[in-house]
Amino acid sequence: MSDDPHIPDERPRAAPSPWRATVLSLYPDAFPGALGASIIGAAEKNGLWMLDTVDIRDFATNRHRTVDGTPAGGGAGLVLKPDISASAIDSVAGPDGTFGGRPLIYMTPRGKPLTQDRVKALAAGPGLVCFCGRFEGLDERVIEARQMEEVSIGDFVLAGGEVAAQAMIEACVRLLPGVLGNSDSATEESFETGLLEYPLYTRPREWEGRDIPAILSSGDHGAVARWRLERSKEITKARRPDLWDAYQKRKSET
Ligand code: SAM
Repeated sequence: MSDDPHIPDERPRAAPSPWRATVLSLYPDAFPGALGASIIGAAEKNGLWMLDTVDIRDFATNRHRTVDGTPAGGGAGLVLKPDISASAIDSVAGPDGTFGGRPLIYMTPRGKPLTQDRVKALAAGPGLVCFCGRFEGLDERVIEARQMEEVSIGDFVLAGGEVAAQAMIEACVRLLPGVLGNSDSATEESFETGLLEYPLYTRPREWEGRDIPAILSSGDHGAVARWRLERSKEITKARRPDLWDAYQKRKSET
């Protein structure tokens, strides 16, 4: 074996680690949940990604296995304790205190809304570590001390972070190489062009008195593409003025 750059290096290389999601939760039994179904579940079985869960309650220190306390300053509900939560997080970290390049994400309605761009960036990395809140949420000091990225999946409040984590992980995994079949291309979907998707149809040609638009059976690929673009624009303009404004701004700049 040689380190001479002119001689091919034929030493065996370790297989790259698959994309990895580590989820910290009080309800690890909620996993894999939807992540075990269909192409996402099959991809895990085929080693394209891996999922592991950590039960936050395993880090409780009293005999009642308490993980929560009343909010400082009063008010309703309970708050996840900082010491227990941080112990659970630290159990996943390497000796250097990091997660091997994986971001530590706290699912929370007050987080930055998850976007397809962020999903793409997460899918391009080594994976993620995700903390699922419960009760009123997590003690702020843990979020600060462990520099957690706060992510929301939408402007509504779930009972816990598990469903939110599954949504985020599923969105990432379907972008990993080899997960989608050829027929399931991710390149023409909502958000890829900055527009929402055009209407979809399949056979039968007529159903309950409703026909598939004739242009889609014309065989004129250019006309079909123009029709789809127009419908995408109409739908985006009507339903998501924010996306429509951004699309127009981008178009005017190019
Ligand atoms: N008190 C919190 C607030 O007002 O923002 C809501 C807490 S919620 C009942 C409990 C947990 O569910 C949160 O800590 C978070 O992990 C999760 N959760 C709820 N809605 C979410 C959302 N839209 N996105 C991400 N996580 C969410």
